[in-house]
Amino acid sequence: MSELSELYQQVILDHNKKPRNFRKLETANHSAEGYNPLCGDQLTVYLNLEDDAVKEVSFEGSGCAISKAAASMMTQAVKGKTKRDAEALFSDFHRMVTGEDYENNASERLGNLKIFEGVREFPVRVKCATLSWHTMHAALNNQELVSTE
Ligand code: ZN
Repeated sequence: MSELSELYQQVILDHNKKPRNFRKLETANHSAEGYNPLCGDQLTVYLNLEDDAVKEVSFEGSGCAISKAAASMMTQAVKGKTKRDAEALFSDFHRMVTGEDYENNASERLGNLKIFEGVREFPVRVKCATLSWHTMHAALNNQELVSTE
């Protein structure tokens, strides 16, 4: 097993067991629901946007370990970011897991999200990994519901 996939498993297990920011956000002024029918992952992303920045972010829902861990790490990654930076990170993440080329400096921006890079080899899992990101994007843009199909 490669070092990366070992790290990947540890991080996924940890976030699945103790998801960060896993709650309903009472102060949310944006939210969206996401559904991945292929796997059954279902989640709601809550955002508190203030002055075009993500002041608070949380999620709740149920799904597989990958979707939950990805959501947990998404909330950590976008908290404090401007809307524009959160969207840019979504784009970087999406490119990474779908195997598209991404800019060199994106690697640095992605940071520990890079552990999801291996997901590109499992197309079905790509939707699990990106569901929370699509949902965050929808919430930012005042859409209420996303489905990965
Ligand atoms: Zn899933």
